[in-house]
Amino acid sequence: MKNKVLVTGGAGYIGSHTCIALHEAGYEMVVYDNLSNSSVEAINRVSALIDRPIDFIQGDIRDKKRLNQVFDEHKFFGVIHFAGLKAVGESVAKPLMYYDNNVSGSITLLEVMMAHQVDNLIFSSSATVYGDPKTLPIDETAPRSCTNPYGQSKLMIEHMLEDLATAYPSLNLISLRYFNPVGAHPSGQIGEDPNDIPNNLMPYISQVAVGKLERLSIFGDDYPTVDGTGVRDFIHVTDLAQGHVAALNYLQQHASSNSSSDAAGSVGFLPINLGTGKGTSVLDLVAAFTKVSKQPIPYQFAARRAGDIASCYASADKAKELLGWEAKLSITEMCQDTWRWQSKNPNGYA
Ligand code: NAD
Ligand code: UDP
Repeated sequence: MKNKVLVTGGAGYIGSHTCIALHEAGYEMVVYDNLSNSSVEAINRVSALIDRPIDFIQGDIRDKKRLNQVFDEHKFFGVIHFAGLKAVGESVAKPLMYYDNNVSGSITLLEVMMAHQVDNLIFSSSATVYGDPKTLPIDETAPRSCTNPYGQSKLMIEHMLEDLATAYPSLNLISLRYFNPVGAHPSGQIGEDPNDIPNNLMPYISQVAVGKLERLSIFGDDYPTVDGTGVRDFIHVTDLAQGHVAALNYLQQHASSNSSSDAAGSVGFLPINLGTGKGTSVLDLVAAFTKVSKQPIPYQFAARRAGDIASCYASADKAKELLGWEAKLSITEMCQDTWRWQSKNPNGYA
């Protein structure tokens, strides 16, 4: 079926929001997730939001037998591949776990896709593949390098996809390089639900605002930026979800897939940034969140975090040119939706 996709990692933060966008755009999906970093409650809530059951399979992308069964049962146009581990610090402590889960898991998935003549893939990559950028904004031709096993796993998968696209010209492999996804669905029903203490800025801020954490530590006040704090390209998760729909639509139009009859030409390996193109400092985000939540957000300055870079923001031109996609939502909307999710669900899905 040309409109049916497999969504690996679809119970997770970005995957759950993307399932809603896919449904709204008329796609059908099967969600495949081992729930290692997510909850079946996310699936239940997505199902309630779209008012229909989700075809959900609990499984691991490294389980070739199970994946083969799923591909035998369903005829997929393509795969949106979110499944992966994503905590930088944990990847430094447990590198093999990251290479096994992310790289070996992707190899298994690709083998099964190829065995079933499914040629279309959208992969969750990251701005982390750009390392410490020499120029800003960062476009897709910037050199790539990584400093931690998580980033290396993304880069290794990208290299693998490039080599595959060269070896098999029928493959259509889009690598979406996300900048900093934040925010939540406007219903406040689904959002980011980190295990333990959050590593990332936005969930940390929102947990301070809701009173779960005492104060934010701002890592570094002496970066060469507007106010000395780090600058990032925060992007609303629902904009990001729309980016996946746009990429899928692009594949529908351009992919010379074995599984589609009205093929137009091969896409090969196509990396595309998903960001807003705007940089926001840590202090700016704290100020915006304070204004929206009307809660005090106590903070202190602390030493720079190892491996952090000063500034990172995207050139989002390629996504606009090729996919007709651009981010629409503002920092205020990102804070409003995060706050709605956090204040309605102080303990996440628990
Ligand atoms: P998430 O942890 O919320 O979602 C990932 C999902 O994959 C989880 O539901 C998890 O249970 C599942 N999963 C992990 N390993 C699996 C396996 N072996 N088999 C089956 N399912 C597995 O993370 P997210 O924030 O939604 O990120 C989705 C993807 O985007 C990840 O690949 C991540 O590396 C990438 N990414 C995320 C960010 C970010 O800041 N959130 C930034 C850039 C890239
Ligand atoms: N940051 C911070 N305190 C925190 C978490 C993050 O000051 O508790 C800063 C971090 O140093 C960086 C920015 O916020 O400058 C974004 O960090 P995050 O981990 O969210 O994203 P990434 O570093 O992966 O871009």
